[in-house]
Amino acid sequence: MKRLSILGATGSIGHSVRTLLADAPGLYEVEAVAGGRDVAALAETARALNARFAAIADPAAGRALAEALAGSGIASGAGPSALIEAAQREADVVVSAIVGVAGLAPTVAAFAPGRRIALANKECLVAAGAFFMAEAARQGTEILPVDSEHNAIFQALEAGPRKAVEKITLTASGGPFRLRSREEIARAVPKDALKHPNWSMGAKITIDSATLMNKGLELIEAMHLFALPPERFDAVVHPESVVHGLVSFVDGSVTAGLAMPDMCVPIAHCLAFPDRIVTSCRRLDLVALGRLTFEAPDEGRFPALALARAAMAAEGVAATILNAANEVAVAAYLEGRIGFYGITDTVAATLDRINGGPAPASVADAMEADAQARRAAAVLLPKFSAKAS
Ligand code: NAD
Ligand code: MG
Repeated sequence: MKRLSILGATGSIGHSVRTLLADAPGLYEVEAVAGGRDVAALAETARALNARFAAIADPAAGRALAEALAGSGIASGAGPSALIEAAQREADVVVSAIVGVAGLAPTVAAFAPGRRIALANKECLVAAGAFFMAEAARQGTEILPVDSEHNAIFQALEAGPRKAVEKITLTASGGPFRLRSREEIARAVPKDALKHPNWSMGAKITIDSATLMNKGLELIEAMHLFALPPERFDAVVHPESVVHGLVSFVDGSVTAGLAMPDMCVPIAHCLAFPDRIVTSCRRLDLVALGRLTFEAPDEGRFPALALARAAMAAEGVAATILNAANEVAVAAYLEGRIGFYGITDTVAATLDRINGGPAPASVADAMEADAQARRAAAVLLPKFSAKAS
């Protein structure tokens, strides 16, 4: 039986992976699971999946995890070295589903010849995409995109040679504020922003979907995954989230990936590729849907897209800075420290404050630029405090 490890096993993607493993018994046995701080959830996951090893990122949680796993025979560890061990243990496929740039080092540590990374963590491609893809190629590691848009595009690209691709289009749901005025959006509290119309996901990506930064991060992610220049990528708002990505070829043909908005579908593809497995994922019923609609994104109400596009065009370290400032600002917004537009204001101000530089050439480079941007963003945040706006 093939072996699977899951980094970020207790999150939203981790849960979808669990559902799929239940759908396809006998496809994988679980080697390692890793999580952030929630000992009880990680221990429950490790037991349910019969994993051999469990790693918790919180260095202070090692003892509690070992106690929670007592009698199970599951080995465990805590802190950065345990995350690296979880990533490096023998496995055919490693699911990368930690949230944020915290996933970069463990994901790169998981690279090994012949191994597949099922990549959900988009932040590692945003923060260090050029290095990440080159290093994966150097080590003979296969990167398959779990992100629904990129997974759809990966499948749609099989219809023709890369040199015949004219344009790649990612769709965006538009998030919970698609129909709200700028004034209404400015007053939005986290409870409103966390109500995503179509997808059930972790808090950080749900806020990114409300600002449309998620689509900006995904444009950068796509540029690295599919190795085409920035101007070949486009985003269109599609509130039904059924068409996830489209590939336009030079002859006018367009191929697209469709599915219900359920991460079960792209995860199933990544776990079985190039084969297919039978799943209990939701099925598409076009007649029940009736119609699919599309509109241009409004960059006035949603400035994140233009910020991401500028970072994408600048190449270099700009995307690393954008990602770090966004992580800091989203956390501050969720804690009620800044208003909704404080998120993109902080990102813009941080990009203004730090001079550009070359793209990170290693994990250490990326983490250094990330730390510098976090410090700058933390200093700038109070300017955008919830009270001030
Ligand atoms: P989540 O918040 O639900 O789960 C995050 C996981 O990472 C949890 O297991 C958590 O314990 C772990 N974690 C958090 N901080 C950590 C740290 N410092 N070190 C180690 N582990 C840590 O997030 P999610 O929605 O599952 O998203 C995970 C990743 O997948 C994100 O990068 C997101 O952008 C991407 N993604 C998610 C979806 C989705 O539908 N949820 C879709 C596309 C892409
Ligand atoms: Mg996506």
